[in-house]
Amino acid sequence: MYHSEKMKLSVLFFNDIHGYLQPHPELFYSGSEEVIKIAGGYARIAGYINDVRRQQENVLVFDGGDTFHGTFPVVQSKGEVVVPILNNIGIDAMVGHWDFAYGPQHLRHLSSQLNYPVLGMNVYNEAGSLFLPAYVIKEVNGYKIAVLGICSNIIDKTMPKHFSKGLRITDGSKELPEMINRVRNEGANLVILLSHNGFPQDCDLLSKVNGVDICLSAHTHNRLYETITVNDTVVIQCGCHGSFIGHLDVEIESNTINSYRYELKVVDETLPQDEETERMVKDALAPHADLFTDVVGTTPVTLHRYNTLHSSMDNLLLAAMMRVSQTELAFSNGWRYGIPILKGNISKNDLFNIIPHNPFISTTELTGEEIKEMLEENLERTFSANPMQQMGGYVKRCMGLTAYIKVENRKDYRIQELFIGNSPYQKDKRYRASFVTEQGVPEKFGFNRQQTEITAVEAMALFLNETGLDINMLHQKSFVPV
Ligand SMILES: [Zn+2]
Repeated sequence: MYHSEKMKLSVLFFNDIHGYLQPHPELFYSGSEEVIKIAGGYARIAGYINDVRRQQENVLVFDGGDTFHGTFPVVQSKGEVVVPILNNIGIDAMVGHWDFAYGPQHLRHLSSQLNYPVLGMNVYNEAGSLFLPAYVIKEVNGYKIAVLGICSNIIDKTMPKHFSKGLRITDGSKELPEMINRVRNEGANLVILLSHNGFPQDCDLLSKVNGVDICLSAHTHNRLYETITVNDTVVIQCGCHGSFIGHLDVEIESNTINSYRYELKVVDETLPQDEETERMVKDALAPHADLFTDVVGTTPVTLHRYNTLHSSMDNLLLAAMMRVSQTELAFSNGWRYGIPILKGNISKNDLFNIIPHNPFISTTELTGEEIKEMLEENLERTFSANPMQQMGGYVKRCMGLTAYIKVENRKDYRIQELFIGNSPYQKDKRYRASFVTEQGVPEKFGFNRQQTEITAVEAMALFLNETGLDINMLHQKSFVPV
C-alpha cells in the first residue's frame, strides 16, 4: 500500500531500565573525569512523552526490555509493581531478557496485564510454535507501521536455566527476512525492528538483512548520541536505567523515510514530571522505605560497575563472598545493570541494587585447568570477533587471580599468563572458590558444589560492618590487558 502523502512520526524509545523507578545517581563522562548526576525516573519519562504527544499527532513509544527486574521492589514483586506505571505511559510494544527471570509462564502472566504486546519472533515453545507474537502492526494516520520483536538470544544460553524452561531461543537471523516479507505483504509502509540482541549483534544482523527502516536496539547499554546507519537502517540505543530517552522524528513518504532528526535526551530535571506517574512510583516504593534509609556501611570512593574488565562495585561483592566462605577465589557474573553507589553511606537498598536476586553464596573446587577454560570461554563470549557469539555481560568478575590477556586474540588463546594469588596457576591443582549463580561458575565446572546458608546481601553487610572497604581492594584488577 503506497501513500503519496507525507507523514511525520515521532518514535520514542527507552531500554534497559532494570527496575529503576525513580531518579537516581548515574555515571557520565567529562573529559578524563567520571561525573555523577541525577537522572532517570518513570515520572520524567512519562512527562516527556506526554509533552511530545501534546505537540505531535503521531507518536509511537517502545520499551526495549530489561524492565521487570533489577531492583528490590521490582524483583520482590516479580515485576508486578511496574505494570500499572507502564500501562499508564501508553507503550506500543516491548521485547525482553531479564523479563524472563521468573520463568516463561510468569512473563506470560505479566504480559497478560499489559495494554501492549511483548514481542519475540525468536522465542519458541518446545513444540516449535511461537511463545510470543512475532510482530504487531500499528495503524497511524492511515499508515501501517510494522513492529517486529527479537528477544535476547542469550536467554537459553548463558542465563540461569529457569529463565527459558520449555523454550528455545534463536538469534532471529533466520526469522527476520521471513517476517519482513510477511508484514510487507500485509501492507506495512514502515518496518521497525525492536531488538534485545545487543548493539554489535543488531549491526551484524542488519548488515545481512534488507528491509528494516528503523532498529530500536537494547541490551548492551550503548548511549548513542547520534543515529548509526547500517544497510539503510537507522539504529538507536539509549543507555540504561531510564537515564535516557531516544526521540527519533521521521518523515515518511511512499514507504520510505525522507528525512529524520534524532536526539538522545537525558532524563533529568529539565524534563517535565508527570504527577500521576510520580504518585504511582511513590506508592510502589512506599513499602520499602526502610531499605533506603538503613545504613549498612560506608565507602571511601564512589562504587560503580561501568567498566568491562573490572569494577569497584563487584569487588565489594567478591571480597565479601571470599570472606564469609573462606575461599581463595571468588566469581560472579559481569552484570551490566546497577547504578553507582556514591561515596559515603551505603544503604541496604544499595546492596540489593548490586545483586537484586540476592542468591545464596555457593562454593566449589576448580582445577587450574578448569579456571583457565572458564575464563577463556567468558572472554570469547565478551569479545568474540563474531558479534552473534558475544553473550555478555561484561567480563566475569573475579577475585584472587590475575590474568594477563590479549583481548584481540582468537578464542581460547587470550590468556597469556594466569596467577592464582601470586603463584602461576597449576593445571591439576584444585582451588576453592565461592560464587553466586550459575552465571558465576557454570554447572559444567567444579567439584563438590555446595550452597552456603548466607546470601550475597548478608555477606556484604557483614563485610562492611566487620572489615570495611579499602581503596586498594576496590581498585584491584583481575584482568590486565597486555
Ligand atoms: Zn540491560
